[in-house]
Amino acid sequence: MKLICCNFKMNLLKKDIENYLNNINNKIEKERVIFFPSIPYIESFNKENYLVGSQNISFNEFGSITGDTSIHQLKELGITYTIIGHSERRKYFDDDKYISKKINLALNNNIKTILCIGELEKLSEEETNSFLKSEIDQAFLDNINLINENNLIIAYEPIWAIGSGVIPDNNCLNNTISFIKNYIKESYNLNIKVLYGGSVKLDNIDNLEKINIIDGYLIGGASLNPSDILSLQSKIK
Ligand code: PEP
Repeated sequence: MKLICCNFKMNLLKKDIENYLNNINNKIEKERVIFFPSIPYIESFNKENYLVGSQNISFNEFGSITGDTSIHQLKELGITYTIIGHSERRKYFDDDKYISKKINLALNNNIKTILCIGELEKLSEEETNSFLKSEIDQAFLDNINLINENNLIIAYEPIWAIGSGVIPDNNCLNNTISFIKNYIKESYNLNIKVLYGGSVKLDNIDNLEKINIIDGYLIGGASLNPSDILSLQSKIK
């Protein structure tokens, strides 16, 4: 059963969320579809029917950090997942040190983590693997006693594929995801699930589904349309 993570980013207003919920009503497979709306709308999702996560958490638990939202505050809103290290946050705010602290906080508070990794531009296979290895190590090294096969999932998102409509070919994707899984198994003795993210849509999902080792998808743009997400759900096995 593959996971489907719907990252709304900073899109949709209250009325749009209401329409969205009316459209997906009773048609979502709760155990495998996770919604990541903006914080003001987390409470709009009834947690009996939907899994909901935050797109980020603060690196600190409490205190004077203007504009941040703590893990405890987000838990009160009903999240059970969080995305950490999305490339859009890495670009503006988060470095490896913050990402490692956030993973620590999330896992210590029983919040499942979708850790995003991915290279900025198209690189050779060797360069891609070495870049990913470094992102994995920075995230895992200080958290290895907390990470297990159920509480952390990797989303491999080549940054050049996010929102661009261009995705890696199946062979490259298969090799990269195999590399990530094998590297984590060999280095940390963990079988971690790996999602793919980057321009996943209705017109490329059948092709992506041919790659057996993908454990699910992190979907941005296409998740904003309820009928697209329902069609994607029916195509993703
Ligand atoms: C994302 O933001 O993580 C993402 C994959 O976006 P998109 O599907 O729009 O490329």
